[in-house]
Amino acid sequence: MKVGDWVNSPYTMYQGTLLYKGRLVLPAHSPWTLQIMEECHSTAEGGHAGAFRTLKRITSNFFWRGMKKEISQFVAECMICQRQKY
Ligand SMILES: [Zn+2]
Repeated sequence: MKVGDWVNSPYTMYQGTLLYKGRLVLPAHSPWTLQIMEECHSTAEGGHAGAFRTLKRITSNFFWRGMKKEISQFVAECMICQRQKY
């Protein structure tokens, strides 16, 4: 049985942390979201993947409100990605 199977809400508390469908929930506009986007996109590991791949990588572990829009905007505004395109 998975964590949260016993509640109807997709939100669960697990060891004091709020989870949404098993993903760590962050408050929108917290300083963490930018750090996560940088780590999943701008590092060598992130490899400046496209918006879709970056989004997939982040959504498998995290959730915050408006994350889709924020991540695609972050990738669109990435200076290194812009330089590579032109
Ligand atoms: Zn980039």
